[in-house]
Amino acid sequence: MTYENDNIFAKILRGEIPSHKLYEDADTFAFMDIMPRGDGHCLVIPKKPARNILDVEVDSLAAVARTTQKLARAVLRAFSADGVTVQQFNEPAGGQVVFHLHFHIIPRFEGVPLRPHTGDMEKPEILAANAEKIRAALEAV
Ligand code: AMP
Repeated sequence: MTYENDNIFAKILRGEIPSHKLYEDADTFAFMDIMPRGDGHCLVIPKKPARNILDVEVDSLAAVARTTQKLARAVLRAFSADGVTVQQFNEPAGGQVVFHLHFHIIPRFEGVPLRPHTGDMEKPEILAANAEKIRAALEAV
């Protein structure tokens, strides 16, 4: 179980591929998930390389937890959601597909199930509009 520098989130952190950025501080970065399981589905990652929760340094994990709470509160406000699902997967058997630690944050609504994993990418204009709502909610705190 090693960290590979060419994973897609490492490339996003290095600015080699684009993302819909929501938030950044010294230790963490947050952006929209391109295959959302619900409107407003976003991801929080540490800047320091970590494959998943099994190898991450505890300070880096604490920073990710802080940013995850910030984003969870922001998406709740941004979408007037009834709740928020936070998910985190480790290793292929645990459901992990991208091997740079990340937390999923998904606004939830009473009676509305998560969308299935279809592999379809969301339209960039929808991701951009949802990102704008979340950034505005972050600024409103
Ligand atoms: P998992 O590793 O199972 O926790 O899931 C990885 C997540 O990353 C999935 O929800 C994907 O939709 C998402 N994803 C994959 N590539 C990108 C990308 N380039 N930008 C944003 N999200 C991505």
